[in-house]
Amino acid sequence: MAEVKIRDLVKSYGGLQVVHGVNVDIPDGEFVVLVGPSGCGKSTLLRMLAGLEAISGGTISIGPRVVNNLAPSERDIAMVFQNYALYPHKTVAANMGFPLKMAGMPKEEIDRRVAEAAEILGLTPYLARYPRAMSGGQRQRVAMGRAIVRNPQVFLFDEPLSNLDAKLRVQMRTEIRELHQRLKTTTVYVTHDQIEAMTMADRIVVMREGRISQIGAPLELYDRPANTFVAGFIGSPA
Ligand code: ADP
Ligand code: MG
Repeated sequence: MAEVKIRDLVKSYGGLQVVHGVNVDIPDGEFVVLVGPSGCGKSTLLRMLAGLEAISGGTISIGPRVVNNLAPSERDIAMVFQNYALYPHKTVAANMGFPLKMAGMPKEEIDRRVAEAAEILGLTPYLARYPRAMSGGQRQRVAMGRAIVRNPQVFLFDEPLSNLDAKLRVQMRTEIRELHQRLKTTTVYVTHDQIEAMTMADRIVVMREGRISQIGAPLELYDRPANTFVAGFIGSPA
């Protein structure tokens, strides 16, 4: 676990600025949902946190360290995407353990961590299966397992449920929250879905056109929106 501090964060692509000096403090263990319309800069911000995208200005710290110039593997984060690219020719266990194997961890320790993550995610019966024999929800759990085994300081999720059907999406919201209850890992969760934000977040960060419109607990935003954009966005779910 670690606190995440984002200070005056800027991103430009060529001459076009898409993130305009964002400031957010995320306390240790908090589950923050970053929500906003498509194209507002959510993924860009998350990818800068992950180190997958260079920052054009500002500072990101994770725990006591400024991570601006650290590679993704040095940041102690784990990211879960919408397209949870699993290796089709590896078993569930091998998929989950792969990042640890790459990092040179001994096999016994990998097996122990994979077993533990599988237990948490209800994947124990499926460890010897291949991804093609798994449902969409199970595959997304494997992708989460691959993140959990690394025991990161921070989880980053980018629209992890948007490829799932509505029923499964609702179920997975609960599962991800339960996972957070259990692990208490600082989490930044990106979605364009207001209901997902309202039901999952400790605090919501509403973004619009590369800027933060408001930060607050779900009910706070609902009861006291700071402007008409937040009122409209939170008040009229898709
Ligand atoms: P969101 O995740 O909220 O939908 P993005 O962070 O993907 O938004 O995109 C924010 C803005 O940055 C958009 O206008 C998008 O077109 C632009 N953008 C994203 N990635 C690139 C890129 N690699 N090159 C140029 N523009 C980009
Ligand atoms: Mg996005």
